[in-house]
Amino acid sequence: MTEALSQAQRPQSAAVDACDRHYFEALTQGRFEIPKCRDCQKFHFFPRVCCPHCGSQALDWITPSGKGTIYSLTIVRAREGGDYTVVLVDLDEGPRLMSRVVGMPVDNVRIGMQVEARIDTTDEGPLLVFAATKERS
Ligand SMILES: [Zn+2]
Repeated sequence: MTEALSQAQRPQSAAVDACDRHYFEALTQGRFEIPKCRDCQKFHFFPRVCCPHCGSQALDWITPSGKGTIYSLTIVRAREGGDYTVVLVDLDEGPRLMSRVVGMPVDNVRIGMQVEARIDTTDEGPLLVFAATKERS
């Protein structure tokens, strides 16, 4: 059973890897890009071989506005290195992605907060993170 499952998943994996590679290579070059479908004009994330909305394979890589809204929030109380957040962000373009919020105390992060994407460099390579949008107060 397990073997059959892994067999079934195998044919797509190379193409999926190629999608992931494009995403991370763009990040390395300082670009945040997500796939947009040429047929239905919708964005999606994580990158896939075909559009999850309509099945089209006509996908372009587009830099989104980076603006989004926090949909859900978890605070991870780390033993070392400080607490951090794990959030799901709804991008203005539609896709929901997992990230973390930086640049403010974790206890100030709120669901519904407006945030903006940026790319941080970490020991493990580039990481897409979000910071609170500067608001007119
Ligand atoms: Zn589509």
